[in-house]
Amino acid sequence: MATEVKSLNFIEHIIEDDLKAGFDRDDLRFRFPPEPNGYLHIGHASSICLNFGLGLRYNAPVNLRFDDTNPAKEEKEYVDAIKNDVSWLGFEWDKECYASDYFQQLYDWAVMLIKADKAYVDSQSSEAIAEQKGTPTKPGIDSPFRNRSVQENLDLFERMKNGEFQAGEHVLRAKIDMTASNMLMRDPVMYRILHKAHHRTGNDWCIYPMYDWTHGESDYIEQVSHSLCTLEFAMHRELYEWFVEQIYEEGKVKPKQREFARRNLSHTVVSKRKLLRLVEEGVVNGWDDPRMPTISGLRRRGYTPESIRNFADTIGIAKRENLIDVSLLEFCAREDLNKKAPRVMAVLDPLKLVLTNYPEGETEYVEAENNPEEEEQTYRKLPFSRELYIEKADFREEANRKFFRLKLGGEVRLKNGYIIKAESVVKDEEGNITEVHCTYDPLSKSGSGTPESMRKVKGTLHWVSAAHAKKAEVRNYDRLFTEAEPDRQEEDFMHYLNPESLQVTEAFVEPGLIEAKPGEHFQFQRLGYYNVDPDSKPDHLVFNRTVGLRDSWAKIETK
Ligand code: ATP
Ligand code: MG
Repeated sequence: MATEVKSLNFIEHIIEDDLKAGFDRDDLRFRFPPEPNGYLHIGHASSICLNFGLGLRYNAPVNLRFDDTNPAKEEKEYVDAIKNDVSWLGFEWDKECYASDYFQQLYDWAVMLIKADKAYVDSQSSEAIAEQKGTPTKPGIDSPFRNRSVQENLDLFERMKNGEFQAGEHVLRAKIDMTASNMLMRDPVMYRILHKAHHRTGNDWCIYPMYDWTHGESDYIEQVSHSLCTLEFAMHRELYEWFVEQIYEEGKVKPKQREFARRNLSHTVVSKRKLLRLVEEGVVNGWDDPRMPTISGLRRRGYTPESIRNFADTIGIAKRENLIDVSLLEFCAREDLNKKAPRVMAVLDPLKLVLTNYPEGETEYVEAENNPEEEEQTYRKLPFSRELYIEKADFREEANRKFFRLKLGGEVRLKNGYIIKAESVVKDEEGNITEVHCTYDPLSKSGSGTPESMRKVKGTLHWVSAAHAKKAEVRNYDRLFTEAEPDRQEEDFMHYLNPESLQVTEAFVEPGLIEAKPGEHFQFQRLGYYNVDPDSKPDHLVFNRTVGLRDSWAKIETK
């Protein structure tokens, strides 16, 4: 889908304008700044592809920065998962950075601000502070502590750091303007007390810097030139610039915050907080459940890095939020897997065929091409014998002329095998068909060159040899939510879970798949793309459906 000559996106236009205005190309530097409070999701992939894509386009370094200033929610497990996901997507970061590595520097700068009478310790409750904030149309009110002396502020701030106070007793606030029209400029909190061990700094700190105070200063420390974030931070830009201005030294790069729209995907939720609920409430089997829109879930589901990158590039970035239909993501998976996935035969809902004129006890091997998309065709051998399985849905006793599969008295080709004709059925006491008895035409073998083998019949079915096929567990996934926007409904988003998002069946697969390793991709012919789940073992194969061959939801939704 990627076009040959890609036009510039609006962020690239901003950078081009900066370069034209004299910004040194060598000073370009970017970062991807996740908070390690959960696993990365498909929304993050947009931000990753944007930032690392800029790094590639401008040959500029991109840092991976963990925004780890809230020990109440952050964990090492998340740090490791995030690193793994970014690498798996195919990107290399320049430096691995942690906001927590800047705690001392941030503290020193805060002391500097206090000395310059630009920060003060407020000893009111958070409720009182919130009340004095005013509203967009009503100015705020100064805190009674706003005019504390520099000496007193220095003393209190140091004692906050030393752990002499309980959480909530004091905060450090920037002294800006309680009447500013931008409410974020009304003396924002810079530090709060939190007696919690941090996954990296342990118990070294019991005061933690707030996002706004941390982010711009971290960009400045790393000399990031363009700090790209999502739109909800647009109003924060003024504060970002104010904080950077306080510490800026001539000759350094002054980082620039610019905003782009968050990407939302239909039939799911892209918010770590909400995804955590799905995990904690046991609705899914962990962060990498193949139904999750997390990078690790998509990987386990069978998405390739290329398909995710292609998706992110195709939707690009925007200035306004909108909803991307999950079928586009599925399209990207199909497009990539069509090129890569070897074709195999698997029967998910088996019905037994008996070829009554085929010698009993005999096995022959037929040739099957591995992937018609390959430049140099390769083949494998499949066992063929008297008893076979086909899909139940591929047979009907009676059907009209449009049914190109097998019906009584009708013919089909068994892919890579022979032309067969259905002669009779065997039923159990309840009338269910248990076997279909067929005859085969021994001269019609695919590729044998005989006139019979060239004969055209309407339908071609996939099959496996009953005696040779291996049993496999197949996990068929569907959308996790029934609504396109589960978090924009009347009820809580958990109310809209799709009860049929996972269906497990026992299937028969061609015997060579016993060798398949976790992560390998296949196209189950006529069914869809599947990959091997990490749970899979040679004596218990497990496959996940990545995506069907066609978009089956498009039909359902337009019905
Ligand atoms: P969440 O609500 O899922 O926790 P977040 O924005 O708080 O998302 P961060 O870890 O802070 O998550 O995000 C790292 C970067 O990824 C930020 O620059 C953020 O703006 C960006 N990002 C997060 N979600 C999306 C999304 N849905 N679309 C595009 N970019 C996103
Ligand atoms: Mg967040």
